[in-house]
Amino acid sequence: MSNVKENIEILKQSIPEYVTIVAVSKTQPIDKLLDAINAGQKDFGENKVQEMMQKYEILRNYDINWHMIGHLQTNKVKYIVPFVKLIHSVDSLKLLNEINKQSQKINKITNCLLQFHIATEETKFGLDFEEAVNLLESKEFSDFKNVRICGVMGMATFTYDVNLVRKEFQNLKNIFDNLKNNFFQSMEYFSEISMGMSGDWKIAIEEGSTILRIGTAIFGERNHKQT
Ligand SMILES: *Cc1c(COP(=O)(O)O)cnc(C)c1O
Repeated sequence: MSNVKENIEILKQSIPEYVTIVAVSKTQPIDKLLDAINAGQKDFGENKVQEMMQKYEILRNYDINWHMIGHLQTNKVKYIVPFVKLIHSVDSLKLLNEINKQSQKINKITNCLLQFHIATEETKFGLDFEEAVNLLESKEFSDFKNVRICGVMGMATFTYDVNLVRKEFQNLKNIFDNLKNNFFQSMEYFSEISMGMSGDWKIAIEEGSTILRIGTAIFGERNHKQT
């Protein structure tokens, strides 16, 4: 027996209703995703294009919102654009250009988040504030008609130092507020802050998260720990 259903129910009871839980199912077998679906879970997150496509194909008949949360290479964008609900990991103009191009081809508007590098660790991807401003002020960006920037995403440092994690989430919230005021004031769709994972979601909620990305706390440990 898996605890997936119970884990989801407990999580839901602990967070405000406006917060979306993305169940991060990377490396998890299909039967665990089915347990989550049976518990009413609709939003699933994957960090690899090929794995997300495989799961999408197998679970085609279910009403699922697929979230791309991992680093995305431009040459793979075309595979996910037709079905992805939200790309959390946009970290360059080049990538956004490709998402726009592929979306245009199929007459779709693809929802995206700008990923920010808020952690002290070098290894994590993402923009800094200045890079994001340059992107949003660029002529190229103003010509993109098939992408919609819905907010921001970030990963805190993997640490027991809760004060550091809190500071990093506050930083992301400040970035969100700043971009909202300067670029998206009248755009209601710019409303999402994707932050908070299994180890730090409580802090993330306190600091204004609207989307949690939760893997281990729903599905249990992964076979191969990845980030
Ligand atoms: C794996 C992953 C998560 C979920 O991590 P857990 O600690 O298992 O909840 C969240 N966000 C991203 C970007 C991930 O790669």
